[in-house]
Amino acid sequence: MSKVLGIDVGGTGIKSAIVDTVTGEMITERIKYKTPQPATPDDMIEVMKKLVLDHEWFGGKIGVGFPSIIRNGVSLSASNIDDQWLNFPVEQRLNDALGAEVTVVNDADAAGLAEQQFGKGKNIDGLLIFLTLGTGIGSAVFKNGVLLPNTELGHLKWKDSIVEKYAGNKARETEDLSWKEWGKEVNKVLQYIHFVLSPDHILLGGGVSKKWENYKKYIKLDIPVEPSSLLNNAGIVGAAYAAVTKT
Ligand code: BGC
Repeated sequence: MSKVLGIDVGGTGIKSAIVDTVTGEMITERIKYKTPQPATPDDMIEVMKKLVLDHEWFGGKIGVGFPSIIRNGVSLSASNIDDQWLNFPVEQRLNDALGAEVTVVNDADAAGLAEQQFGKGKNIDGLLIFLTLGTGIGSAVFKNGVLLPNTELGHLKWKDSIVEKYAGNKARETEDLSWKEWGKEVNKVLQYIHFVLSPDHILLGGGVSKKWENYKKYIKLDIPVEPSSLLNNAGIVGAAYAAVTKT
């Protein structure tokens, strides 16, 4: 067994658990805090320090899924977090603050990796697109199991803004959309993504994937579209997995 602390940082919540990276199982309870608002580096790093203390995880490896483009340990976008995260050396700062070897990857890439390694993605070849419909929309694109990192499909231009502002779960909540209204919006976005990339299969993650029954009838694509199997824990598991595979 190889144990790693996985931390999934989102625009709304920061969740963590210790993960067995061989089986992909969480071997402790999940601990969750609200993402501080404004979501500045200092305040968010404090929350991660608290999680390390809660789990009594001293010195072991840590994997973090972070809601930003991550290149070489640096965060390069800040859609649902404070602008101070732009060009921020997140991996180095977390190494210093948490006193451990920390690996940081994009949160959707992390969740997609977990799904690809331990969930439904395992048996899917060809072009697989994994999307998280949360505060923002994150994406992970795989071709025959190989990840193309930092794809940011949630930032495709859409109407007056970008895709995630209409089809993210936050849009459903803040605009008080019915499942039908929101489901139709998600359908249009999936058709758009399908037109651009021609995937063979789409998996949907994020908390709202648990509510699939409420909106599946509005999704009309001629390829399989289904909720992911690890549901809301994929981000934690995938972050831990990324720390051992250095994806
Ligand atoms: C960010 C992505 C992230 C997604 C889900 C987007 O706003 O730009 O990097 O994966 O939200 O958190």
